[in-house]
Amino acid sequence: MTAQARTSTGTPALAEGAPPAEPPAAGAPPAETVAEGAPPAETVAEGAPPAEPPVEGALPAEPPVEGARLAETVAWASRILAMAGYEDLTLGHVSAREPGGRTIYIKRKGVALGEVVPEDVIAVDLDGDFDRVPEGMHLETVLHTEVYKRRPDVHSVVHGHPPFATAFGATDAEFRYLTHDSVLFAGGISTYDGVPDLIVNARQGADVAQALGIGTALLLRNHGVLVAERDVQWAVLASVLLERAVRMQAIAGTLGPLHPIPQELIPGIHAMKYQADFPGEYWDAWVRELRRSGRAFGMPGER
Ligand SMILES: [Zn+2]
Repeated sequence: MTAQARTSTGTPALAEGAPPAEPPAAGAPPAETVAEGAPPAETVAEGAPPAEPPVEGALPAEPPVEGARLAETVAWASRILAMAGYEDLTLGHVSAREPGGRTIYIKRKGVALGEVVPEDVIAVDLDGDFDRVPEGMHLETVLHTEVYKRRPDVHSVVHGHPPFATAFGATDAEFRYLTHDSVLFAGGISTYDGVPDLIVNARQGADVAQALGIGTALLLRNHGVLVAERDVQWAVLASVLLERAVRMQAIAGTLGPLHPIPQELIPGIHAMKYQADFPGEYWDAWVRELRRSGRAFGMPGER
């Protein structure tokens, strides 16, 4: 734990010997894993809506195969997050990058999380000039680019404004380890206490990345959350569980005095509950739920 990655709570950082949040364990599913049975991202049925015109400053519209897979994964991630409370107008965004890559794939502005299709995911060069955000990209793209520049272990970033975690970040309340969901954040949750504005230039993005430090989850005061993880499946799981952990804390607080999990038991629960290959199973279940409930419209396999 670095000086920047303090917990929001004053709770001591992760106990010695506790599992670190970020290094990918051997056998972790690759970020590009796509739900079984889904056709390749580039398969577009006749009559499907044409892709958006290329965004000025973005990379060429024809991404390589690996990029197409990441674009589809980012689109599914957006749909899952919409289902999990992250939908907020057309705001909030997910990105991914290949290990070691200098290109990220990020949701464009103008569409809601629940309606993102692979064609809405833009390839962006990490080495670009982000003080002038190209048209078609979210103003807060720097939240992603500045984290990737500083964290080679991070291959997916989520930013959104889910109601419970965003409200929590607008208080001085402490994050408490009350449920298994909270245990995912055994390393602590950081807080960015800088400006409550949108984060729109590289310097502000760098400040946020510094506040995140080596951690997974960051509360942006009076604004929202940022989650950075080893791959898209882990980033989505952490985003969903962050919102749920805070919601559980809000519910628990209405019922009686809080009764947190003893600190010394947290590492063991973390090791058992958050094994490297578990997020793939949850991801597949979310994709099935999206398809079943009609919320996978426009996605591969649904056209
Ligand atoms: Zn925001």
